[in-house]
Amino acid sequence: MGDRLHKAQLSTGICPFCLTVVETTIHALRDCPHAWNTLLLAGFDANFLSSSLDNFRDWLDFGSSTLPDGLFLLLLVLLWNLWNSRNDFVHNKHFQPSWLLVLNSETLLRDYLCHNSVSTPTKNSNPHWTPPPADYTKINTDGAFDLTTHAAGIGVIARDHLGSVIGDLAQHSAHCQDALHEEFLAIVAGLHLARDSGWRRIHIESDSAILINKFNQIGPVLSVLSSHISAARDLLRHFDDCLFSFVPKHCNTAAHTLATHVCKSGTSFFFDSSCPVFLDPIVLADLN
Ligand SMILES: [Zn+2]
Repeated sequence: MGDRLHKAQLSTGICPFCLTVVETTIHALRDCPHAWNTLLLAGFDANFLSSSLDNFRDWLDFGSSTLPDGLFLLLLVLLWNLWNSRNDFVHNKHFQPSWLLVLNSETLLRDYLCHNSVSTPTKNSNPHWTPPPADYTKINTDGAFDLTTHAAGIGVIARDHLGSVIGDLAQHSAHCQDALHEEFLAIVAGLHLARDSGWRRIHIESDSAILINKFNQIGPVLSVLSSHISAARDLLRHFDDCLFSFVPKHCNTAAHTLATHVCKSGTSFFFDSSCPVFLDPIVLADLN
């Protein structure tokens, strides 16, 4: 790797961290003191790290056949983060310490596992929106985000067991950071709407599997959204029961339409028991 960079006259080819040897893949991702310390800190034992295999792919194969599944996945995420941090250091002179790399890798892996633990709808499951039981209110939420303008919107629609709309709101936001945050704001708006309307048993649906898993997670939530999620969970004391479910996008069309409408139009609105005319066909179609 360093050899090739040197031949192409792109750099000296020397490891940018320890500045002692020509950089090879196995050096950058295992043998360099920075990588070594990061892997040790993450819980990989010195025997595994000091394996005599000095070809990266052979060592990775060795890891895949000897490490437990979860640990091997963590290794892959760490190696990926080590490589990105190496590039960040070379190009931006930004150094990420080992503890930060380990923390970020563990969070990323947890999010990945959490996301993938959601049961995906099977052919037997109902592919449409379904009304809640008689004593529940179902609240569908969605966020929309325009990557170019950073405009965003949230859509929330609440329906009873007959499928009648009993509340909805849609809010535009001019400056949003990312789509996930907007999805989160939509869920929180749904919780506020339910609390203010006095609904005691609610069922929140969102097409963000990551967020639904976080709301359903027992124990501390460790991620960038953690403090926000904890604050939002605080709202749950206002309800006798509050369920959170992931639904595929095509079961969340009404909330999605509201969110994209206000994201584009720049307007916001709130309705008690009626909904905008453009939503009528979707609400009707959900009942069929
Ligand atoms: Zn080095």
